Amino acid sequence: MNTEKKKLVEAITSQEEDFVQWYTDICLKAEMVDYSSVKGFMVLRPYGQAIWENIQAILDKRFKATGHENVAMPVLIPESLLKKEGELVNGFAPEVAWVTMGGSEPLEERLAVRPTSETMFCDHWSHVLHSYRELPMLYNQWCSVVRWEKTTRPFLRSREFWWQEGHTIHETAAEAEAETEQQLNCYADFAEKDLCIPVVKGRKTDKEKFAGAEATYTIEGMMKDGKSLQCATSHYFGDKFSRAYDVTFAGRDNKLQYPFQTSWGMTTRMIGAVIMTHGDDSGLILPPAIAPYQVVIVPVAAHKPGVMEKAEELRQRLSAFVRVKLDASDNSPGWKFSQWEMKGVPLRLEIGPKDMEKNQCVLVRRDNREKTFVSLDELETAIPRLLQELADSLYQNALKNREAHTYAAHTLDEVKELSATKSGFIKTMWCGDVACEEKMKAEAGLSSRCMPFEQENLGEVCPCCGRPAKTMVVWGKAY
Ligand SMILES: [Zn+2]
Repeated sequence: MNTEKKKLVEAITSQEEDFVQWYTDICLKAEMVDYSSVKGFMVLRPYGQAIWENIQAILDKRFKATGHENVAMPVLIPESLLKKEGELVNGFAPEVAWVTMGGSEPLEERLAVRPTSETMFCDHWSHVLHSYRELPMLYNQWCSVVRWEKTTRPFLRSREFWWQEGHTIHETAAEAEAETEQQLNCYADFAEKDLCIPVVKGRKTDKEKFAGAEATYTIEGMMKDGKSLQCATSHYFGDKFSRAYDVTFAGRDNKLQYPFQTSWGMTTRMIGAVIMTHGDDSGLILPPAIAPYQVVIVPVAAHKPGVMEKAEELRQRLSAFVRVKLDASDNSPGWKFSQWEMKGVPLRLEIGPKDMEKNQCVLVRRDNREKTFVSLDELETAIPRLLQELADSLYQNALKNREAHTYAAHTLDEVKELSATKSGFIKTMWCGDVACEEKMKAEAGLSSRCMPFEQENLGEVCPCCGRPAKTMVVWGKAY
């Protein structure tokens, strides 16, 4: 290791020393974000934006494949509109930012900067929906929303964040429920296949569900430090909002009916999940599906005749099947290695005069640094294979970490002991009473993550109250 590389590596805190500081270091040193002059508002730099655009492209394609269409809603919501649904407004009230002036004139009614857009969609549907023939309406929008959080952290919790919010209305409850489930499965599949993050699918307790929803479903991931992260949610509203906003349609019997509604969202928070699930002390490790560059070419002895020409020739050839970057800067190879490791590029391709003599190059995996000498004739097969192997092992390692940090508890004392000494998921039975959920928070510092679809029977009684248990809950400490 040369001195330049040492210097760069020393610049970030190690995971063991301080995981949270390590996380912040990566966000900045991998050049993904910058802080802005308004607290809690972040700048997505080109590298961070490129990752988000790749996430958007994959999700957008998946949404459209199941019939969803994109729309654009206004950023401001009149207070009277927001207030029509009591539970929603109460849930979001502490976090809403308000616009009260238009130029130098006070506004007659203050306007909320959208924290989420259920109300705008309902208002719109109340204008355009007439008949059951127009249903379902399957809408999505890509935008940013504002929630005035007290403590903020890049990607995980910021006052403005980017996301997609899907909003749909359906003729029947069954269709809306099926939509809620379909979108949750879409998120789970995306998290596991494209982001290599294993997730637990389940339903939120009433205490943790979205304000105003009848049911909220979630996918929960576990970060390297054992903490939980809610990765995406999908909500079923029944016809509650339709009634509040007077969204109606003429049914098959020609009578006025209320449609059934869903909403579902995934945010830039997933970039935080990727960092904290896969990263190491040298920086980011990106799943190939979302990496801005899947391969970086680093010429070795670049001043020797023919090396740069060969590197450029390879760049052009590889660009037919991967996202590739040739680092032609005059930094040393060692500096470049560290820099691209920090940025998490899945594969590094090294090419120098000796390799050229042998018609080969060196491919180095970012995750385990395994080196493979590959004939230049075989790159079209070797690179996709290595990328797939890397993705598979990212997923497997994350799964192993989750399994190693998942515990079952049967008594409140066991829960408290585990919570005090371990970091991870704690599974227990639960009676369904919110008082016991609050006790878990007060006495063990745990919040309910979800009631997993895959239930286990860990006993007959709730560890908090001793009454008969209804369901198994996964608890954790959450980001
Ligand atoms: Zn209980």
